[in-house]
Amino acid sequence: MELEKIIRDVPDFPKKGIIFKDITTLLQDGEAFRLALNRMMKKHLDAGIDKVLGIEARGFILGGVLAYKLGCGFVPARKPGKLPYRSIREEYTLEYGSNSLEVHEDSIQSGEKVLIVDDLLATGGTVLAAARLAEKLGGQVAGIEFLIELGFLHGRDKLAKYPVHSLITY
Ligand code: AMP
Repeated sequence: MELEKIIRDVPDFPKKGIIFKDITTLLQDGEAFRLALNRMMKKHLDAGIDKVLGIEARGFILGGVLAYKLGCGFVPARKPGKLPYRSIREEYTLEYGSNSLEVHEDSIQSGEKVLIVDDLLATGGTVLAAARLAEKLGGQVAGIEFLIELGFLHGRDKLAKYPVHSLITY
């Protein structure tokens, strides 16, 4: 099965000039969804991962399944103001302006091995902020897993000190 053919390109979303990689066409295909998650999980089976950290919102869908399959905990990294308990925050820059991610301050214990999961690697800013959050809490980033990588944006360069994996590269 060629997973890259199942992902839908939506031109000019959310703004002109962006080709949005729409993974809902993969999520709604049971066979493709399971195949993708099994492939993403495989290399981490014996890695002793303690926490999967998923990035809002599509990282929750993939990360929740991975945590279940690896038998470890799941930590949501959320947009600001969404988490109910004491949280730590990391800002990152976007093409225009900035955004931030938050995690609960008790979500990762010192020394725990963390696998970060998101749907897509573009410039790498989002996931780098997530890695910093994990490290602020004493976690060790054991890997970063993406379904899709936009190779032409070279986001991987920003993440050079981490093991980065992606299933599909455009
Ligand atoms: P970045 O911080 O530049 O690596 O952006 C990654 C985040 O933005 C991920 O959470 C993606 O879901 C989202 N994103 C960026 N570009 C696209 C795109 N072309 N299609 C779908 N999602 C995107």
